[in-house]
Amino acid sequence: MYLQGVGPKKAEVLKKEIEVVSWEDILYYFPYKYIDRSKIFKINEIDGNMPYIQLKGKILNYELQGEGRARRLTATFCDDTGHIELVWFRMLKQIPDLYKVGTEYILFGKPTIFGHRINVAHPELETESKFYEGEVGVQGQYNTTEKMKSAFLHSRAIQKIITQVLENIKEPLPETLNETLINKVCLISIDEAIRNIHFPKSSALLRKAQFRLKFEELFYLQLNILQITKYREKRLGGLLFTKVGDYFNNFYHKNLPFELTNAQKKVIKEIRRDTNSGKQMNRLLQGDVGSGKTLVALLSVLLALDNGFQGAIMAPTEILATQHYETINELVRGLDIQVALLTGSTPKSRRKIILPMIKSGEIQILIGTHALIENVVEFDNLGLVVVDEQHRFGVVQRAKLWKKNTIPPHVLVMTATPIPRTLAMTVYGDLDVSVIDELPPGRKPVKTLHIYSKKRNKLYHSVRKQLQEGRQIYIVYPLIEESEKTDLQNLQEGFEITKQIFPEYKVSMVHGKMKPAEKEAEMQKFVSGETQIMVATTVIEVGVNVPNASVMIIENAERFGLSQLHQLRGRVGRGADQSFCILLTRYELSENTRRRLAIMTETNDGFVIAEEDLKLRGPGDIDGTQQSGIAFNLKIANLSHDGQILIIARDFAQEILASDPMLEKAQNLVLKDQLNKLNKQRQVGWFMIS
Ligand code: ADP
Ligand code: MG
Repeated sequence: MYLQGVGPKKAEVLKKEIEVVSWEDILYYFPYKYIDRSKIFKINEIDGNMPYIQLKGKILNYELQGEGRARRLTATFCDDTGHIELVWFRMLKQIPDLYKVGTEYILFGKPTIFGHRINVAHPELETESKFYEGEVGVQGQYNTTEKMKSAFLHSRAIQKIITQVLENIKEPLPETLNETLINKVCLISIDEAIRNIHFPKSSALLRKAQFRLKFEELFYLQLNILQITKYREKRLGGLLFTKVGDYFNNFYHKNLPFELTNAQKKVIKEIRRDTNSGKQMNRLLQGDVGSGKTLVALLSVLLALDNGFQGAIMAPTEILATQHYETINELVRGLDIQVALLTGSTPKSRRKIILPMIKSGEIQILIGTHALIENVVEFDNLGLVVVDEQHRFGVVQRAKLWKKNTIPPHVLVMTATPIPRTLAMTVYGDLDVSVIDELPPGRKPVKTLHIYSKKRNKLYHSVRKQLQEGRQIYIVYPLIEESEKTDLQNLQEGFEITKQIFPEYKVSMVHGKMKPAEKEAEMQKFVSGETQIMVATTVIEVGVNVPNASVMIIENAERFGLSQLHQLRGRVGRGADQSFCILLTRYELSENTRRRLAIMTETNDGFVIAEEDLKLRGPGDIDGTQQSGIAFNLKIANLSHDGQILIIARDFAQEILASDPMLEKAQNLVLKDQLNKLNKQRQVGWFMIS
């Protein structure tokens, strides 16, 4: 507030908009890109592809245009080669006083082309003398919000505030890493890094500054995760599963309908080792859709039973929980194992019966939804919890599980949404990871086609052939919260149209707004083959298993994320027949969308898809990380591009903690202080991760 050119009003905006309240805060408000501001263009050099332009010229005149909300101020700006139009939608009254007609200005902004006219909205304008007071070489550009712009806090203004702050700090900035680390990783000092990230003396120094700051950010992130994990391992013991007994063996030899794949065997071995180690198992099992995770879940639960414990399997939806219940009941038939189902819609009368049986240990395997972590559900001796499709499952719930026994039960988290390595190391940094990288034999990879909606008639022809051969079909519509109403209408219409197009077949419909019992009944009809076509929203996304379904049609595929498309595609290709996934879209698509759809048609590999998804969307959007309540809050590092730095940072964090787990050595005190400080700043955030 006391800096020249800031004052109470702008200080308030900085606080509200970007949470900047101190000198330190603004020094850590890094540019999002760099541009060369030494170059001044001529108007006749401009083309529509330039991300920004810098011109020297004068304003000829102003004109107010439009009415009401469309009201805007325009100006003609010219140099000796031509003229362009400037537009303002805010501050219409003040602008002509601020920027005078006839005065020479340096203009900076983003050009847009309308027909043959070039237009720059909300340009930055400075007189020449003011301009040359500032920095004119390679310049950082700062993100600014609408409100900041209205308060004249555009990028250039931020830069000036930072200049002042740096001029006011005479001493070098206090170091935030220790000397050993700086030397080993060849980092520049924090002082040099901060100064160069804002005002790069050269592109080499800019790169070094970026490396230093990214490294530091990821280093502290990893240090935090690893320290918490270590602490938990030390504090919490683990239940011991020492033997493989009758439940496991009888199932394996009498009931197992097929040979396990090698990948399944490998994972079972890993789980055996974990549960026999004296530590609590926290394992993430990644396996593509259809890779046979349910069986791994069951085998692990049987291990728990063999050692006198109960097991639980938790699924994100009622449909999925019910399906698991049925599958598992079927699989353990004749083995004298008590299995029960508990979901939100389990009636009170039924609860009254099963809750005491869970408490007494009579029920050995409990399957259900979130309902099973409610406080009223008490176990006799819960040994293992399997959490299926965890991307619908919050971190808080995971912590609740640990409280279900005096020594926390082992936890196996299963997901078909492959998590890129860098994310896994961060989001699930405290989990060990197993991978099933092999599908059961005899599966044919699903063929994926991208088709424009206009050509859907041809598609229906092929679909009818599949139906005639006795196959079943899914048709999925997007349903996204904001546009829920129209989406539901689309679904409803789709349902009617489908019935008209295929009058000789029966059609089911499910969506999230239906009552669970209704939904269940419709789903069941499709599972049993009573209906041949399922029109649905993404509620069928996870887990549903109908091996006879061979075609997945996705309407408005452009509106789905890559992982979601991959999940949906996983609903088919579960039997021995060739299956198809059809992505229907309109013809006009953005470059990014085309790329996404192309990836789907090119590969069935969930890991490749997850990596591409991360690149295209950035980690903030990856399914589930938001719901898990994890705010990354990274200021400069980018998990999709800085994986290499992340790995180095993790290795160093590991090395330091190995010799000094509590960071008590003199040379590590600076790390401890900095970590504490960061944790305080990010009240929600990293601590939540474990
Ligand atoms: P997901 O990993 O997607 O949860 P599921 O556990 O639902 O996969 O398994 C998909 C299908 O594969 C099921 O019908 C299951 O019976 C079958 N399956 C699982 N393991 C094997 C195996 N080793 N050999 C043959 N089929 C298997
Ligand atoms: Mg599954």
